[in-house]
Amino acid sequence: MSLTHSSTGMSVGKKELAVKRKNENDRIIAIAGNPNVGKSTLFNALTGMNQHTGNWPGKTVANAQGYCRTAENSYVLVDIPGTYSLSAHSPEEEIARNFICFGHPDAVVVVCDATCLERSLVLVLQTLEITDRVVVCVNLLDEAEKKGIKVDIGRLSDMLGVKVVGTVARKKKSLRALTDALDTICTQNDNVYRIRYPDEIETAVGMIEESLSGGLCVPNKRWQALKLLENDIALIAETEKTAGQTLSEADNVECAVKSAREYLERAGIYKNRICGVTAAAAVSASENICRECVAFTKKSYADFDRRVDRILTGKPYGYIVMLLLLCFVFWLTLYGANYISEILSALFSKLEVLLVRLLDAAAAPVWLKGIITDGIFRVTSWVVSVMLPPMAIFFPLFTLLEDVGYLPRIAYNLDKSFKRCRSCGKQALTMCMGFGCNAAGVIGCRIIDSERERLLAVITNSLVPCNGRFPAIISVISMFFAVGTGILSQSLSALTLTLVILLGIGMTFLVTKVLSRTVLKGVPSSYTLEMPPYRKPQVLSVIVRSVFDRTLFVLGRSVAVAVPAGAVIWIMANVNAADGTLLSACADFLDPLGRLMGLDGIILMAFILGFPANETVIPIIVMAYMSGGTLTEFASLSQMHNLFISNGWTWVTAVNVIVFMLFHWPCSTTVLTIKKETGSIKWTLMSVILPAAIGIILCVLINTAAGIL
Ligand code: GDP
Repeated sequence: MSLTHSSTGMSVGKKELAVKRKNENDRIIAIAGNPNVGKSTLFNALTGMNQHTGNWPGKTVANAQGYCRTAENSYVLVDIPGTYSLSAHSPEEEIARNFICFGHPDAVVVVCDATCLERSLVLVLQTLEITDRVVVCVNLLDEAEKKGIKVDIGRLSDMLGVKVVGTVARKKKSLRALTDALDTICTQNDNVYRIRYPDEIETAVGMIEESLSGGLCVPNKRWQALKLLENDIALIAETEKTAGQTLSEADNVECAVKSAREYLERAGIYKNRICGVTAAAAVSASENICRECVAFTKKSYADFDRRVDRILTGKPYGYIVMLLLLCFVFWLTLYGANYISEILSALFSKLEVLLVRLLDAAAAPVWLKGIITDGIFRVTSWVVSVMLPPMAIFFPLFTLLEDVGYLPRIAYNLDKSFKRCRSCGKQALTMCMGFGCNAAGVIGCRIIDSERERLLAVITNSLVPCNGRFPAIISVISMFFAVGTGILSQSLSALTLTLVILLGIGMTFLVTKVLSRTVLKGVPSSYTLEMPPYRKPQVLSVIVRSVFDRTLFVLGRSVAVAVPAGAVIWIMANVNAADGTLLSACADFLDPLGRLMGLDGIILMAFILGFPANETVIPIIVMAYMSGGTLTEFASLSQMHNLFISNGWTWVTAVNVIVFMLFHWPCSTTVLTIKKETGSIKWTLMSVILPAAIGIILCVLINTAAGIL
């Protein structure tokens, strides 16, 4: 979903702790908090960046950096993944924890949700154990007000001993208090609230603290002692890495930990209970603070959400609504896209005439005119006029559903089905991200804690069509399966598209099931899937965001690939090899396999050449057919339909193109991302071969069945 350079894999695998300062005096500020409390919204408002926001927990999976300047200082803000506690349980929680502990931030802003402060405060208290340089930002004050929740900011600040500010991150003006607080943050603070653990734990921590010295007490002695007592293995390993010293080299520490644990055992607190006791102390401290600082004026504030959830996540309505919504979104996309497409294609026809005149006036040689108009211009105008409209409609609609908070409900509805396939419902979320961009979907798989389930989600992600494949599928459906232009034909196309998507989802289930019974055996893990409250979407900002962040990004990428692809195809179609042109030689070579799959050599070649970006597959087919000279203008779908028919396409070819578009190898960016995320060539190959094999087998079967019929 978040189709930015960082989200599509360009930054994955880089050191998460590395922060780029513009100049020496820049202060580094970590923006921490539970998932879905408005960290990214706040980060965007302060830095002017477009970090992905969405109403569901777990969508930020990597650190993002931005710059912010106040009258007094300049800051590098780091938006870290959401985490409920500093005992990391998943990769993105680990990224967050490591940045706070070892990223040397000058201060940490802990963003809290005013509607459930109690939960947010646990992270605040844990952060205060690490550093005094904390600003607490109580966000979502507007939501809290609606729900009759009042937070006494002053009292909270007094109790915590650090600056506390109240904000509504969606309203930029309200963030002034936060930047003011940041400007005064770097002063020493002695009154900071500390969690008071049961006496036995305090004594045990003291015993270990005494033994700690030098590098091993990163970031501070007391907290490090606590983590050693809790035997937080990942953190200890990270500390050792940072300190460049292993614990075994510090024998006295090991001895102290051993004696402290023995002491606790004598007091009846066994090793496996220590974490529970410390966590309970943090929760109870948070409850105590909230009792003093939060007042409720309404009895049950979640009534509305519960009533809506009964429909959207209940049986059978949940499934019906899901299907209807999918159908409606596709109908609106197809219906609207047709109009915009027509306008754009008319515009491009006129532009082409102008371009030809210009080249004639400049007395350009025939080959140059060929490359520019028949090659580059036509492919690019196809990409823009046919691909832009569905993207410009689908992405905002999808983002609106995300902003309202509907995505986690889909995950909830599909949870049981994924569990039956021995996977988890969070895979539904990563699958949804795949509809936007498979590379983003693959990165999103970091929200899945279990390694096995994460691999299942990564490998199956490209079984649902991404934005690059959507428009191609839509155009083939419009050309071959929508008869006429009335509302009935539009509905029929929407229904066909829904069926295609359901085929992708069904295949995801099937492959997940097969994999989890063979190479990725295991039992499904248990996890909590949090339902965020429904929130009023920010319609305008959603539209602007999805146009700039997604539509134009994808379009830019497609055009960047389409321009050279157009030139290369034109050259291939016009440079002669032994028998005919280079293009026909390649197509002839692939033709037997293509025919077996109910396609032809040119279509297969287009899929291979479209590896850098699936968006270019149809334009390449058009270009290759056009080298036969049958079409003068092609930007409209009906002309393209004629071109395909005259090159031997039937409804079987169309069905097979759709099926192969749905199931073939992922694009190069996704393949690269899979390699980075899994760190394994084996799983990367599996992710490439599996969908391709499914596509080839299905096409051969469909073609054979059609032949028999
Ligand atoms: P993150 O997961 O903590 O980064 O949260 P996001 O920044 O993605 O925000 C989650 C959702 O809450 C989005 O739909 C935001 O538009 C919305 N949101 C964030 N801050 C506020 C706020 O102060 N008031 C309201 N009403 N919504 C907010």
